[in-house]
Amino acid sequence: MSVVGFDVGFQSCYVAVARAGGIETVANEYSDRSTPSFVSFGPRNRSIGNAAKSQVVTNCKNTVQGFKRFHGRAFSDPYVQAAKSGLVYDLAQMPTGTTGIKVMYMEEEKVFSIEQVTAMLLTKLKETAEAALKKPVADCVISVPSFYTDAERRSVMDAAQIAGLNCLRLMNDTTAVALAYGIYKQDLPAPEEKPRIVVFVDVGHAGYQVSVCAFNKGKLKVLGSAFDPELGGKDFDEVLVKYFCEEFAQKYKLDVRSKPRALVRLYQECEKLKKLMSANSSDLPLNIECFMNDIDVSGTFNRAKFEESCTDLLAKVEAPLRSIMEQTRLKKDDIYAVEIIGGASRIPAIKERISKYFGKELSTTLNADEAVARGCALQCAILSPAFKVREFSITEVVPYPISLKWTSAADEGISDCEVFPKNHAAPFSKVLTFYRKEPFSLEAYYNNPKELPYPDPTIGQFNIQKVVPQPSGESSKVKVKVRVNVHGVFSVSSASLVEVLKSAEGEEPMETETPAKEEENKMQVDQEAQKAQGEDQKENAEKKSDTEDMETSEDNKQEEKKNETQTKKAKVKTKMVDLPIENSLQWQLASDALNLFVENEGKMIMQDKLEKERNDAKNYVEEYVYEMRDKLHGVLENFVSEADRDSFSLKLEDTENWLYEEGEDQQKQVYIDKLAELKKLGDPIQSRYREAEERPKALDVLGRQIQQYMKVVEAYKAKDELYDHLDELEMMKVEKQVNETMTWMNNSMNLQSKQSLSQDPVVKAEEIQAKTKELFSACNHIVTKPKPKVEPPKEETPAEQNGPVNGQEGSEAQTGNTEKTQDGPENTKAKLPEMDLD
Ligand code: ATP
Ligand code: MG
Repeated sequence: MSVVGFDVGFQSCYVAVARAGGIETVANEYSDRSTPSFVSFGPRNRSIGNAAKSQVVTNCKNTVQGFKRFHGRAFSDPYVQAAKSGLVYDLAQMPTGTTGIKVMYMEEEKVFSIEQVTAMLLTKLKETAEAALKKPVADCVISVPSFYTDAERRSVMDAAQIAGLNCLRLMNDTTAVALAYGIYKQDLPAPEEKPRIVVFVDVGHAGYQVSVCAFNKGKLKVLGSAFDPELGGKDFDEVLVKYFCEEFAQKYKLDVRSKPRALVRLYQECEKLKKLMSANSSDLPLNIECFMNDIDVSGTFNRAKFEESCTDLLAKVEAPLRSIMEQTRLKKDDIYAVEIIGGASRIPAIKERISKYFGKELSTTLNADEAVARGCALQCAILSPAFKVREFSITEVVPYPISLKWTSAADEGISDCEVFPKNHAAPFSKVLTFYRKEPFSLEAYYNNPKELPYPDPTIGQFNIQKVVPQPSGESSKVKVKVRVNVHGVFSVSSASLVEVLKSAEGEEPMETETPAKEEENKMQVDQEAQKAQGEDQKENAEKKSDTEDMETSEDNKQEEKKNETQTKKAKVKTKMVDLPIENSLQWQLASDALNLFVENEGKMIMQDKLEKERNDAKNYVEEYVYEMRDKLHGVLENFVSEADRDSFSLKLEDTENWLYEEGEDQQKQVYIDKLAELKKLGDPIQSRYREAEERPKALDVLGRQIQQYMKVVEAYKAKDELYDHLDELEMMKVEKQVNETMTWMNNSMNLQSKQSLSQDPVVKAEEIQAKTKELFSACNHIVTKPKPKVEPPKEETPAEQNGPVNGQEGSEAQTGNTEKTQDGPENTKAKLPEMDLD
C-alpha cells in the first residue's frame, strides 16, 4: 500500500510521501514541490499543474484555476454565480444542477464536472507521488478546508475515486497541521496531565482557518475551529488588481477587464508585488511590457499604502480568533503557542493582527507551505500497516451542528433532534430508537444556517425501508445508527428492526435468559464490531467507544418504558433485522455518472500519454536535425566525404522546413520514420567518429597486455626464479599467442593508417577488445599460476613474506589487462564492500 498525503490547495498543491527515512515532500517533474492547481485544455491533450499554469495567458479561456470552491455546489449557488463574473473561463450547469466548467478540448466544446477537473489535478499529483515512490499509488489522505460541508467533502471523495485514488481519510487542513506539529513532540504532557493547548492558523489563497487543539502524549483533540472562507491571499491580490485597473484606466485609458489576457497578466504581477511587499516596506515598481494595445504600463506601490487599502480585509482577521476563544472558553493564558502556516500568513499585517490578538509572538516552526501535505502523509502512515509509526490518536470536531427531522408517528407533526452539536467529537456514531409501524424517512440538516458558508442547510434524506409492525400490531422498535465518519461526513449508516420473538408470559425462555434490553444492547455492540471489521478502511478508523445511544423524543422514551415493563413480565428473545436505507444526498453523484467519469478519465490519461509520445517523437527529429547540423561542421566534419556532407546537410535543412510546415502535425509513426531515414545517413558518420575515438584506447590496452605477457616470457626464458615453476610447453603457447596477436595488431594498424577518416575503419574497437579478451583467456591462467608452497623454516614467518610475491605477480598480470574484460566473478566479489542487506 502507498503512503501519500495530498494538500489540494486553491492555488497550489503539495505531495508528501512516507519512506523508510521519514516523511518527505516530493518535487514534480519540474523539480518544484508546489504544483499549481491549474488544468489547461488543448486541441490534443490536457496540461496539468506547471504546464497548465504556463498557458494561463496564451490559452486563458481553456485554462482553469480556482475551482476548489465549486465542489458540491449548485450552478445556481450564489457563491458560484458571484465567482463566475470574475473568471476568465466559462462555467456551465451540469445536467444534475451542479457546477461544471466549459472549455474547448480536443477541438470540441466540453463541460466537465468539478469532480472531473479536481480528478485531473489529482491524477497529476498521483503521478508525482508514483514517480517519487517508483510504484503505483492508490491509498492516500487528502486535505480539505475545515469549513467544508458534507456535499463539498463528498464531491472531493468522488474526485479522488475518478482519479483512481483510495482516500483513506479526508483531513481538515488545520488538523493535518496539528498532527505534523504534535507527532514529533517528545515533551507533550502525560495523558492524565493538563493538555498543551495550541492554536493553528492557516491563511491560504482562498480561505482562512483557525483551530485549537489539546495535546497529550500520543493524542490530539481538536477543541474547536473557526474560519473565514472568504479571506485569503487572493483577496489581497484583488485589492491590488482593482487599484491598478483604475490607475491604468486613468493613466493609459485602458479597460483592463475587457481583455482576459491582460487581466490574467495583471493578476500575476500583482501577486508578485504582494509577495515583495511582505519582505520590503519601500516603494516597489510594477512594470508590464506590451500590456494592452502595445502599451507598456508601470506603477508603484508600497506596504503602507497596501495595508491602508486592505483595512477591510485585515479587519476580518480577528473574528475567527475571537470565535474559537468563545467556543472553547479558553483564556489567552491557556494557549501555549500559536502556529501559523499558509502562504498568505507571510503578510506582515496579518501576522501582526494575530499576534496582537493573542498577545504572543507567533510560532513558525512548521513549514508554512508543506505542513498540510506532511500531516496528511503522517495520517496515511498511521492508517497503513506497512509503516510503524508512533501511536497518535486524533479526535476531530463536527464544525456545524447537525439535526435530524422526521414526521412523528403519533401526531403527524414534524419532530426534530440535534444529533451532533457543534464541536462534538468525530468520528462518532449514535444509535437512535424509533417506534414505527411503517417505513419512515429522516432528513439531516445543518441547524444553524447562519454560520454555514453554504446556501443550503440540507444534508440529505434517508428513507428507512421495510419497517413493519410487530406481529401483535404494535409499533416495532427501530434502531438507527447515525454517524459522522473519518471524512467528517454525516450518514445514517445502518438501521435495524428489533423483531420480538416473544414467548408468552410464564413460558420458558427459548434459548437465553438475557433480558431483552440487554440482549439488544449486546447485539448492537456486536454489530458495531462486525462493521468495524468488515467495512472499508475508512470505517476501520472507528472505535467502538465512539458510539452513543440516544433517545429521539420524550414520546419514544415513554413508549420504550412501556415496552420495558412488558419485557420484565415476559421472557422475550429478540432478533435484529437489518433494514435497507435509501439515501438521497445533497448533490451526490449517481454511481453510473461516477463510473462514466472514471472511464473518461482513463481515456483522457491515455490520450495525454499518446500525445506525449507523439510530441516526444517529433522532438527527437528536431533535436537530431539541430545536433547533426552542428556536428557536421564540427566534430564529424572529417568523418564524411564532402559530397555526402553536402547532401546530408541538404536533407537536414529540408527536414527542418518540413517540421515547420507539413510535418508540424503528424502521426507519431511519421516522425519515427523520418528520424530513421536521417539516421541511416548520420549513423555511419557517427559510428566512424566513435570508432576513431575508441580505437586508440582499445589498441593501447591490447598493446600493454602484449607487452606484459612478453615480459613474462622473456623472464621465463632468462630462468628468472619467479617463473621457474611454469610449464615449458604452456609457456611456448603463450609466446605463440603473443606473437600472433602482435602481428594481427601491427597489420591492423598498418591498414588503418592508410585509410581516410571518412571511410569505414578496417578494424573496429570491438574486434580489438575481443582480441584482448582472447589473449587474456589463453595466457593469463598460465603466467599467473602460483608458485608451489615451500614449507617455511620454523623461526621465520615466510607466509607473509612470500605471500606478496605471488600476490604481486597476480595483480601485476591483472593490472595489465583491459579493465572491461578481465574481471572474473571472484575479483569483483573481493572488491565489493560488505553490504548490509537489511
Ligand atoms: P487554500 O489553502 O486557500 O486552498 P492554498 O493552499 O493554495 O489555498 P497557500 O499555498 O497556502 O494557498 O497560499 C497561497 C497564497 O499565499 C497566495 O495568495 C500567495 O500569493 C500567498 N503568498 C505566498 N507567499 C507570500 C508572501 N511572501 N507574502 C504574501 N503572500 C504570499
Ligand atoms: Mg492551503
